[in-house]
Order: sequence, then C-alpha cells, then structure tokens
Amino acid sequence: MKIDILTLFPEMFESPFSASIIKRAREKGLLNITMTNIRDFTHDKHRIVDDYPFGGGAGMVMKPEPIFEAVEYVKSLSATGDSKVILLCPQGMMFNQQLAKDLAREQHLIFICGHYEGIDERVREKLVDYEISIGDFVLTGGELPAMVITDAVARMIPGVLGEEESFVTDSFYEGLLGYPQYTRPREYGELKVPEVLLSGDHERIRLWRRKMSLKRTLERRPDMLKVEDLPKQDKKLLEKE
Ligand code: SAM
Repeated sequence: MKIDILTLFPEMFESPFSASIIKRAREKGLLNITMTNIRDFTHDKHRIVDDYPFGGGAGMVMKPEPIFEAVEYVKSLSATGDSKVILLCPQGMMFNQQLAKDLAREQHLIFICGHYEGIDERVREKLVDYEISIGDFVLTGGELPAMVITDAVARMIPGVLGEEESFVTDSFYEGLLGYPQYTRPREYGELKVPEVLLSGDHERIRLWRRKMSLKRTLERRPDMLKVEDLPKQDKKLLEKE
C-alpha cells in the first residue's frame, strides 16, 4: 500500500514511522509512506499557506491552491491510478476498526492534514473521498490523526504482522473487546495467573477467553453487544461459573 501524507509539518512523522511495526512494514516493502510538505506548492516569496477567513472571525484558514496542487502531484506519481483522498477532520465520520479494515484494502491513500481553523471548504467539496475524525475533540492539526489511522490500517495489511501476532484477536475485530492476557511469572506476590491458562487444555482455554471477551464487552461497552442477541452457546457460557 502507498500512503501519501500532505502536511505542513512533515518532521512530526519521522519518529513514529521509524519504529516497531510500521518500520518493519516499510522495510518489507508492504507499506510505502511519503510525507509531502504542502508549503512546497506555494508560488509566492513568503510561501504562504493560510489566509484570513472571508466574513471575519478568529484564526486563519488553509488556502486551497497549494492543497489542490499537492494532491494532483501525488496522484500523478501513483502507479495504480486509484487513490482515495482522506481529509482529517473533527466533523468527519468516526474512525473505527471496521473503517481501518476497509481502508487496508485500498491501494493508495492520501491524507490531508489540516491546521489552524481548518481548510478552505472547496478542498472538501472537490477533492475529498472521506472525511475522518478520530474522536469528539479538537486537536491542533491532522498530523496525529493521520498517524493513528496509518498505524491501525498498517496492522491489517496482509504480511505486516508476524505469524505470532494477529489482528484477528484484537479488540473490535469481531465486535468484541479482547480477553485478558497473562505472561510469566505464574505468581507475582499474591497475584496468580488463572488456572485454566496453565491447563494445556486448548478447548477450555478457548471457551474461557470467549467468556471473558463477552463479559468485558457487556460490562464496558454495552453499546456494542446485547445479551439477547447472543447465540445460545454464548448465553450458556456466560451463565456458567
Ligand atoms: N475549526 C475546526 C472545527 O471546528 O472543525 C477545527 C480545526 S483544528 C484546530 C485543525 C485541524 O486539525 C483540522 O483541520 C483537522 O485536520 C485536524 N483535527 C483536529 N481534530 C481532529 C479530530 N478529532 N479528528 C481528525 N482531525 C482533527
């Protein structure tokens, strides 16, 4: 997958994209990420990217021309010709695991990171395929949301996670939160690892994990799951001590 990030602050991405799974995905050639400075597409002496809002009001608005030119430029370099342009925006659709899964099937994503009071509305009207928000709060710029979305999407690109890791057991993948995990030591002071996980009985472990996932989801995220909608075997599992 190719990801182009259009930003006024490309240096913000250096460290997060040079570590851990993203680093590995880039090294394996599964993920090709390029940061492009929107300021490089200005044509005036002062390289101005923002201006006062028409109609007055506080703050500055990002001008449309450099963004249009930057999008056109990265699209022209795309080998697939099939690009999706994403505007990071607190007013957009809420990002979630399903959207990450859908985006992971795309060939080329272009993120536009807004700043200041946001971008000129004509960018949204003409260029953008998706507007995505990462939560009901306002950040200074679209750079952190672009990193968050890139990370969540990268995990789902086939081959990015090693054999010992899997996004299939991640929270939200199957509409449930994940089950509790333990590692060595078996006992830490008074705190013990549940006996079932040491039993070597794979079926018991699978059922325990399923039960814990269901319990957690019902307790913490009742919006995600209703007991009455569960299949019989899950209801039985929850009733069992
Ligand atoms: N005045 C804008 C509004 O009320 O919608 C907010 C502008 S915000 C200070 C600047 C930029 O940060 C936005 O253009 C967007 O790119 C990004 N941004 C801020 N919060 C975000 C969020 N929750 N999700 C995605 N992008 C966000």
